[in-house]
Amino acid sequence: MNYTQTIIEKMKEKYPYQPFFLQALQEILGSLKPEIERNKIYEENAILERLVVPERSIAFRVPWVNDNGKIEVNMGYRIEFNSTLGPYKGGLRFHPSVNEDIIKFLGFEQILKNSLTTLAMGGGKGGSDFDPKGKSDNEVMRFCQSFMNELYRHIGERTDVPAGDIGVGAREIGYLFGQYKRLTNVFDGVLTGKGLKWGGSLVRKEATGYGSVYFAKAMLESKGEGLEGKIACVSGSGNVAIYTIEKLYSLGAKPVSASDSKGMIYDSEGVDLALLKELKEVQRVSLSEYIKYRPNTKYTKVQDYAKGRNEVWSIPCDLAFPSATQNELNALDAKTLLDNGCMCVSEGANMPCTLEATELFLQAKICYAPAKASNAGGVATSGLEMSQNASMSSWSFAEVDEKLQKIMKGIYESASEVAKEFGEEHNLVLGANIAGFRKVAMAMIEQGVV
Ligand code: GLU
Repeated sequence: MNYTQTIIEKMKEKYPYQPFFLQALQEILGSLKPEIERNKIYEENAILERLVVPERSIAFRVPWVNDNGKIEVNMGYRIEFNSTLGPYKGGLRFHPSVNEDIIKFLGFEQILKNSLTTLAMGGGKGGSDFDPKGKSDNEVMRFCQSFMNELYRHIGERTDVPAGDIGVGAREIGYLFGQYKRLTNVFDGVLTGKGLKWGGSLVRKEATGYGSVYFAKAMLESKGEGLEGKIACVSGSGNVAIYTIEKLYSLGAKPVSASDSKGMIYDSEGVDLALLKELKEVQRVSLSEYIKYRPNTKYTKVQDYAKGRNEVWSIPCDLAFPSATQNELNALDAKTLLDNGCMCVSEGANMPCTLEATELFLQAKICYAPAKASNAGGVATSGLEMSQNASMSSWSFAEVDEKLQKIMKGIYESASEVAKEFGEEHNLVLGANIAGFRKVAMAMIEQGVV
């Protein structure tokens, strides 16, 4: 058995109860194989054995008191995966599905994603099984304060810099930062995604969505195509989906869908962005409300995963932007998209396509971008926020957006160059994984056995 396969098998044996982490490992290590076979230096330095084990893994209890005076207990996690290229960097996810497995898969992906941005950031991830949905602002604040009561001792602007992810937006970052500052008496750039009045960066909120569209644009241009006039399906209705839709409009495409945990909307005239923002960013209500204002919209309740499909992907489209969550697009969905003539898939969520769906897109040789390349705009702009904080400066919207565009283009170019080098021009999964890996692995070798 070859080196990569041996490591995958060992991890499968050791962590049979961590399916998401194993899926990410399979996707990444599987595509690193040609690079690793070609260059024995990785095996000689036990790079894979070291890469797959977090440098530090923290799990803690988060007790808090709800509005009825009852004590509730959640789990908190921070997995500091790899600090070879810089301080640990990656978001916090608050969602009932969060466990060690989910955080490990996200943290592992983050190492290579952050490497691709070319900024000085290692990989980490954290979160909790706390569900902010349906909680009052006060409950969210008390939870965030309790979460930070433990987390603060592990993080720091030169050590580990968390940010948002699913369930963690501006409100949560605010409460987390306030408590960090109170506990440490330090005002620094320990979190990114901060409010604009207190150290946040312009464009950070928009960055993941914008970046995913910039990436799609780069892929399409390489085939002499553009976004203009294209129909786009977007899943999700959080930060990533909303700003994907915004950028699609500004570059001339027509986004026609959005979804949440309860259902999806298909607005064939184009999603009403102002309404979507009002419902999701201001009122924080279900997407079902959308049809009250746009009666011609088709609303489908809960995407029926049990029936094996996500309804969003049955809408005929040219472009697909899975921007909700992991494994939201399976082989059946991929087949439907391909049958409908979809020519480009840009992942906004982390690992939204199953291994089988990914394989189908690669076989069809359409423009397909894995999340660690196409959704790296969020963390890249977090890196830009860190730079601004460190130099006590703040850049204009145009300045940050220009840097973001450059970074996304750079990621596209390095992934496609590596893909070409291996004679698989269309395979950006291989290209992105190898490009990200090379930098981390070589730096690990230079830093010795640590
Ligand atoms: N959660 C985002 C991601 O998956 C952003 C992380 C960050 O800004 O640190 O990359």
